[in-house]
Amino acid sequence: MVIILFGAPGVGKGTIGNLLSRALKIPLVSTGDILRRNVKEATELGCKAKSFMEKGALVPDEIIIKMMREEISRLKGGFILDGFPRTFNQVKKLEDAMNNNSYYVVNLKANDDFLIKRLSNRRICRNCGAIYHLVNIPPEKKGICDRCGGPLYQREDDREDVVKERLALFHTKARPIIGYYQEKGILESVDGSLSLDEIVNLIKEKIKDDSHQE
Ligand code: AMP
Repeated sequence: MVIILFGAPGVGKGTIGNLLSRALKIPLVSTGDILRRNVKEATELGCKAKSFMEKGALVPDEIIIKMMREEISRLKGGFILDGFPRTFNQVKKLEDAMNNNSYYVVNLKANDDFLIKRLSNRRICRNCGAIYHLVNIPPEKKGICDRCGGPLYQREDDREDVVKERLALFHTKARPIIGYYQEKGILESVDGSLSLDEIVNLIKEKIKDDSHQE
């Protein structure tokens, strides 16, 4: 089973992807995580991607498609995609790589104000990766991780001005992708402002319903 988690930055694709991955016992492949790891380790890929990511721009298709072709070729069985595809060109390349295997696209929806508030208040532990929200899930001590005592930081692309750029870009690129998957009849929309448990359960139900129809 292959599931594509689609939706605007900040809608929770990563968190939901991790929960689904554990529940369904299939790996999660997150383009953002792979790229950030490469930037941190200053690999050739990371050096190419860094400046695009800091601006909130998309990393060029040829770089992403090569990276994902390698990732997908390593996977056997099902997987969950977070952050890919993001352009129509990536949609087509993914389709070629899937060799007619079926997949589901889950469109997580939320409005821009909700996403701007969520992302611009997000802080991450540099040490263990724990995620905080300055209003909803604040750390006990300002700037310090409750779990490991590591320093908290704000992702360069979570600054409010960059978040707005990322959202505008998402809407432009997303429209044709959503239309395409809708026409193919494989798009399931889920309200991304529901609780995590509700979202994960809804996705599991939709997948179960679909597999009964086959
Ligand atoms: P994310 O964590 O998914 O929001 O991704 C962080 C950043 O990585 C994005 O703002 C882009 O710069 C880059 N990125 C992630 N996935 C893709 C993709 N499929 N195509 C192009 N750039 C991407």
